[in-house]
Amino acid sequence: MKLVFATNNKNKLKEVQALVPNHIEIVSLSDIGCTEDIPETSTTIEGNAKQKVNYVKDNYGYDCFADDTGLEVEALNYKPGVYSARYAGEDKDANANMDKLLNELNSKGNRNAQFKTVIALILDGELITFTGICSGNITENKKGLGGFGYDPIFLPNGYDKTFAELPLSEKNKIGHRGKAVQQLIKHLS
Ligand code: IMP
Repeated sequence: MKLVFATNNKNKLKEVQALVPNHIEIVSLSDIGCTEDIPETSTTIEGNAKQKVNYVKDNYGYDCFADDTGLEVEALNYKPGVYSARYAGEDKDANANMDKLLNELNSKGNRNAQFKTVIALILDGELITFTGICSGNITENKKGLGGFGYDPIFLPNGYDKTFAELPLSEKNKIGHRGKAVQQLIKHLS
């Protein structure tokens, strides 16, 4: 089975490919000739995930799945949430995003946060979603060189290492995207 994953984010592709069984071949947007930025204008994570799959289906004709992820920080009223990618500006700079968040949390005692991933799947005319959540807290400083995005400042509950310090296999086991992908795999099989 071949399925389009509506992303060109190499880190996301790597995470998902590591989880999906061999009989499901995952291809990316560039593999189907889609190199433009897909609009993500919804005010919810779920809405953005649905927007991406509908765009691919409408413009390229493929069944596909897409994920949208946000980091929700309790003390910041669950921001940046759906605005996580552009938190510090349009250039989607991960370091600038983390610096902004660390600054805003400077005087706050509560550093609880969660990653939320919604995967939307459009298959045989049906659109369904799967949600994965990983709870933890925001560190005082960036730690680790692995992962991407906000990984260096996110400490999952029960761990003393950030996502950027943990091996991919561990992040996938306990992480938001991994949990959503497991539901997707179960549905597909
Ligand atoms: P999107 O799902 O690509 O829209 O991601 C929104 C933002 O969250 C981007 O800034 C990503 O870098 C960040 N992000 C998405 N997934 C992860 C993750 O697994 N770890 C850390 N940051 C992430």
